Amino acid sequence: MKIGVLSLQGGFIEHINHLKSIGCDTLEVKTLCDLENVNGIILPGGESTVIGKILKETNLLTPLREKILKGMPVWGTCAGMILLAKEIENDKNNYLSVMNIKVKRNAYGSQIDSFETKKIIKEVSPNPIPLIFIRAPYISSYDNTVNILCEVNENVVAARENNILATSFHPELTENLEFHKYFLSMCDKNV
Ligand code: GLN
Repeated sequence: MKIGVLSLQGGFIEHINHLKSIGCDTLEVKTLCDLENVNGIILPGGESTVIGKILKETNLLTPLREKILKGMPVWGTCAGMILLAKEIENDKNNYLSVMNIKVKRNAYGSQIDSFETKKIIKEVSPNPIPLIFIRAPYISSYDNTVNILCEVNENVVAARENNILATSFHPELTENLEFHKYFLSMCDKNV
């Protein structure tokens, strides 16, 4: 089994390194051919408008969307979550539009656009997980098909809808590997 990380812009190397440290075969996904060779894919943090634009320019947007709709496991972190959303509160565009959530970009404002906290996320691990937010979005509304995994200050910051996982924060920027193991288990079940 091979897990891809969309490697067009943003923090893809950190995800690759985390996957490697849990013994996972990985691939930097930049082309359609790469996409055909993975069993699951991580969409990293970065700038959603830029990643979305490159996805369109490289003709990856539609094939990636179709694969997700057919059940390929996908995990979007931060900008990746924005790409997955069906609706973006403060962006007239939408991108992959596969997850029944509405997100607010840069939701934590400019003064406190980065912060850290810790939470127990029961589905993922019995131990507290460090959460790093960088100009992060949160989920402002969602359909009842979406399972909420974590809230911080009453805002939804992690959720799952079937094969789609989304987090506002960046587990790849911490030492903690629990989220990557959790995503790997989603991919394992799908093979
Ligand atoms: N603010 C960025 C966006 O809107 C996301 C930031 C991140 O991925 N760390 O795309």
